[in-house]
Amino acid sequence: MSLLVANIPWPGPEGDPCPAIRARLQLPAGAALHFELVKRSVDGRRRPPQWLANYRVELEASALEQQVLRAPPHGVRAYNHRDHQRFDREDQPADRGAAPARWPAGLRPIVVGAGPAGLFAALRLGEAGAPAVLLERGGPVEERHHAVRKFWRHAELDLDTNVVFGEGGAGAFSDGKIYTRRRDGELGWIFRRLVDFGADPEILEEGWAHLGTDRIRAILPRLRARLIELGVEVRFHAAVAGLLVEGGRCVGLLLTGGEELRGAPVIMATGHSARDVWAAMLAAGAAAEQRPIHIGARVEHPQQIIDQARYGTARGELPPASYRLTSHPRALRGEAPPRAAHTFCMCPGGTVVGATNEPGRVVVNGMSYSKRQAWWANSAVIVEVRPEDYPGPDPLAGARYQDAIEQRAFAAGGGAFRAPAQRVVDLLAGKTSAELPRTSYTLGVTPADLREVLPPPLIAGLLAAIRHFDRQIPGFAGEEGVLIAPETRTTAPLRFARGEDLESPTLPGLMPVGEGAGYAGGIVSAALDGDRAARSIIERASALAARDRAPTA
Ligand SMILES: Cc1cc2nc3c(=O)[nH]c(=O)nc-3n(C[C@H](O)[C@H](O)[C@H](O)COP(=O)(O)OP(=O)(O)OC[C@H]3O[C@@H](n4cnc5c(N)ncnc54)[C@H](O)[C@@H]3O)c2cc1C
Repeated sequence: MSLLVANIPWPGPEGDPCPAIRARLQLPAGAALHFELVKRSVDGRRRPPQWLANYRVELEASALEQQVLRAPPHGVRAYNHRDHQRFDREDQPADRGAAPARWPAGLRPIVVGAGPAGLFAALRLGEAGAPAVLLERGGPVEERHHAVRKFWRHAELDLDTNVVFGEGGAGAFSDGKIYTRRRDGELGWIFRRLVDFGADPEILEEGWAHLGTDRIRAILPRLRARLIELGVEVRFHAAVAGLLVEGGRCVGLLLTGGEELRGAPVIMATGHSARDVWAAMLAAGAAAEQRPIHIGARVEHPQQIIDQARYGTARGELPPASYRLTSHPRALRGEAPPRAAHTFCMCPGGTVVGATNEPGRVVVNGMSYSKRQAWWANSAVIVEVRPEDYPGPDPLAGARYQDAIEQRAFAAGGGAFRAPAQRVVDLLAGKTSAELPRTSYTLGVTPADLREVLPPPLIAGLLAAIRHFDRQIPGFAGEEGVLIAPETRTTAPLRFARGEDLESPTLPGLMPVGEGAGYAGGIVSAALDGDRAARSIIERASALAARDRAPTA
């Protein structure tokens, strides 16, 4: 039996939490206990704000255990053997996937896309001994770093190696938020591998962990080296242009240079910006349906406004404060209520970045470095978009809706990827800002009325949300808040159908995976989905290997 003892003041890396744990458990001073830090986080609601930690505790004497279990104090939870596994740091059998002793000939998986979904799918396959191929349309992260810098500084866009395309996928130039409280099963495997490749071990404990763009850049080459060591063929500048279909099955791919690459199953993990791949998958026979999304703008404030609102004081040694807000406006005078909205991908101490992969479009997003030291805080404020808003019933209509907004934003920004921007107070007052404060968006901002960029229902949802958020974060709607638009690529506006084995029911051999397929909404969920697809292939390989070994009559 283990005990989870929650919300103990964290004494710092060198400090001893035992006195506080004993006090919580009402144990005598000196009672022996073994403990492990499970998670720590800042409680910004306390005044002053405080670091709190959760510990897993084992008591040495069972009499003490019985005493605690008879009347568990508040904030203490007992775990039975099954729950125990939540805290295991070692791989569990289910984690590893039952890999066949010898990979069956004829099963050659191809993974498309080196984002989190594709990378973790390739890693799982490589660890199982699969002769997998990983195709990536962009360059390796070192090259990508230069291409992105060129874009952010000089507005020179590379269509295949940019903020969303290239090794690491859309998450490579991000805040690298990997917020999840769980570390069990496959999640544990993903987190441990991240640490193996250079992530700070704190991510194994911190519920609100983030990697930071600089750390991600260091992790990716090590992950690539491991893939190559495992025998995975990693190919950069290898863009998929079409699918090879024979007898109603996907049997391989056509690359942009004209090369035909045979192999299956194909794990298609090309993210939410590869609209050309969606068209190719649909043309080949994969079924998909429309899906609701959220669209809005990035709001940027000086970080100190957020610290003051959250901590009630300057932050001192505490991490830059963050927020997560939602708005569900009520109907007024019998009218339909403005649409629901929420903040998304908040980047404390971060910057707003240009994140398009296409010419003539402006798309913004947010990122930060591991130390989160920028002067600003930003977050997307996004409003629900429904399939009935889309200009047609087909699966690509949502992408056309996004694209129209991105093109209007390009025009309103005045070209060269300058983004249209408006002070929050001016959006509320219904006027274009006369001038704008300095922002972190390096490509430049142009004063504009966001009503020219975002459709009316989104503006109404944005206005209601901002008024509501200002009550929770004083200054949110103040003079210094700026909206930079548009944030359109929050997720995919369509979802590809798939069966239990994660293959397309209308195009077997194709596995639509990750955010672009409509099954993930962030780095961790994409990595998990890629891993699921790989484990499904490994299961099949094991069954094939067992069949080949079985004696024939
Ligand atoms: C600036 C920014 C900040 C973000 N911040 C966070 C964050 O802090 N936390 C978080 O959880 N999420 C964040 N996200 C979202 C996160 O990055 C995505 O959810 C995640 O990367 C999706 O993973 P994926 O593997 O499904 O797709 P992607 O990461 O999009 O990867 C797809 C890959 O496929 C490749 N590809 C595309 N087309 C082809 C083709 N035809 N042939 C070959 N390869 C192709 C692309 O080059 C790309 O590398 C952020 C995104 C952006 C853009």
